[in-house]
Amino acid sequence: MNLLEVNKVSKWFRDPVALQVLKEISFTINKGEFVCLTGKSGSGKSTLLYVLSSMDTDFTGSVKINGEELHGKTNQRLAAFRNNHIGFVFQFHYLLQDFTCLKNVMLPGLKRKKYAAAEVEQRAYELLKLLGVEDQANKRAALLSGGQQQRVAIARALINEPAIIMGDEPTGNLDSQNTDIVLDLFKKIAAENGQTLLVVTHDDDFANRADRIIHIEDGKIVS
Ligand code: ADP
Ligand code: MG
Repeated sequence: MNLLEVNKVSKWFRDPVALQVLKEISFTINKGEFVCLTGKSGSGKSTLLYVLSSMDTDFTGSVKINGEELHGKTNQRLAAFRNNHIGFVFQFHYLLQDFTCLKNVMLPGLKRKKYAAAEVEQRAYELLKLLGVEDQANKRAALLSGGQQQRVAIARALINEPAIIMGDEPTGNLDSQNTDIVLDLFKKIAAENGQTLLVVTHDDDFANRADRIIHIEDGKIVS
């Protein structure tokens, strides 16, 4: 079954000059597949991920996740859909620095209101453990190293058991040793839960372990 269906997605930026950044992009990803997105800097990778994750709704064409079309939802419905079905890991962790690591991971779960707070807390703790940072659970995020904070950010992306997890160079700020560890964990956890992964990466070793690589140049899929 297609978890993600992308059909003729195009996008223009109009400022400072009119620029078509995505040019009729079409592809599908099956449930449970692990796909890497590669391409030179400026080729449109981040723009594409922001569209696919519903953070950017200013595009033409169609994006369906689990059969649900992103276009045509109210902003409120879209925010709920994103929180409950899509996990996103940015290059920078964007943790709330004054909150504990545990609380950072719990927040999307509490917002979802599907499970009681105690269950969300338990699950958040388990995820921190899987990512090897459970000993940091009750510390303020600000006190952790960048690599540790990125692990917490990955746990946060997983808390709602999203059908699809997207990462925009999720290890771009880590050293090579941490990159390997974190990417391996990321892949392993997603595989265990049958989750679909779509990751932008510059790391050829990681990309070579994907089920499939989608390579884009100048806003078009070339292979
Ligand atoms: P990548 O992630 O592959 O490096 P991006 O998706 O960030 O590429 O950018 C693709 C193109 O779109 C680049 O030419 C970039 O300068 C342009 N771009 C990105 N964001 C904006 C924006 N908000 N306004 C105008 N142009 C943008
Ligand atoms: Mg980018």
